Amino acid sequence: MSKIALNILDKTTWLTKNQPCIISGPCSVESPEQVLSTAQLLAENGKVNVLRGGIWKPRTRPNSFEGVGSIGLKWLKEAGVAVGLPVATEVANAQHVEACLKNGIDLLWIGARTTVNPFSVQEIAEVLRGVDIPVLIKNPINPDLNLWIGAIERINAVGINKIGAIHRGFSSFDKSSYRNAPMWELPIELKMLCPDLPLLCDPSHIAGSKDLIQQVAQKALDMEMDGLMIETHVNPAEAKSDADQQLTPKQLVDLLNHLTIRDKLVSDTEFISHLEQLRLIIDELDEELINKFASRMAIIEKIGTYKKDHNITILQIERWEQILKNRLFIAQKVGLSNDFIRKMLELIHQESIRIQAKVMNNGEK
Ligand code: PEP
Ligand code: MN
Repeated sequence: MSKIALNILDKTTWLTKNQPCIISGPCSVESPEQVLSTAQLLAENGKVNVLRGGIWKPRTRPNSFEGVGSIGLKWLKEAGVAVGLPVATEVANAQHVEACLKNGIDLLWIGARTTVNPFSVQEIAEVLRGVDIPVLIKNPINPDLNLWIGAIERINAVGINKIGAIHRGFSSFDKSSYRNAPMWELPIELKMLCPDLPLLCDPSHIAGSKDLIQQVAQKALDMEMDGLMIETHVNPAEAKSDADQQLTPKQLVDLLNHLTIRDKLVSDTEFISHLEQLRLIIDELDEELINKFASRMAIIEKIGTYKKDHNITILQIERWEQILKNRLFIAQKVGLSNDFIRKMLELIHQESIRIQAKVMNNGEK
């Protein structure tokens, strides 16, 4: 794909200076007290640049907390004014944008569940025509780079030139330690296609749990991303949404203090070298392979239990021969060597038999 032409205002004039831009605050604005006390603690250390807070929450299942609605815009803005921070929230339709503009919200972002829908993005774009406000666009929930770029183009086309992207990971059927698979190759590709577009990372929604946030945040900075959006709550255990992934403001400071932030002024301002990018993709693919193996072995265990319950033998030669034939055919089609795939399949097969034998012996080796 060739480079994407966008009309972008230089990020150093509105988003970052030499340091990554840190956007933090609760997943959801819950009450005036909650957002104000979180904001006060965040502002105390001077490390946060923008206060975030969700007002309308796109929940996957009904009957979970769907946000306080427009009333929360006032609470968010008042908290921001009280501590001297610009405020940001997520918009998903034209009414949300209008309410935000009326309440002096300083920055808008489009959430992952909205980026997937060009109708919604266009509707948002239309009310932003001629408005001067920064807009950040999260990646769509599915790993479709064109959908992400399309949303950025729609918002840019109505004159929004303070524009950026947020990488928040992608939904995946595979079992993994992440809530949303990072698939770093997508933001890398976006950065290559739109080198001037500010690109931030949201480690909270990638990680889904507190303990993984640090590592994801560091990786994002290693890739020279321009900022981080990290959820914080004055009392995460009591949070009405995303309780598992919210940090206290103090934990955020600890996390930021332990990040290695490259000084963009002295380091190479070019995006990380081609070799490094390729290595990051390899890291990602290896992790995916391991997760796939884990999913496969979990199924093998279920098959073992089924065979045990129905008194069927573990090894069934015809099935194994059929697997070999079919997999070698697939491998040949994508240009993988017969010898390599045969050896790999044999190893996988041995491990599968070991797991099933363990099930048969009631967990004994
Ligand atoms: C959020 O930032 O709280 C949110 C809902 O994010 P996402 O669109 O990434 O799921
Ligand atoms: Mn959230």
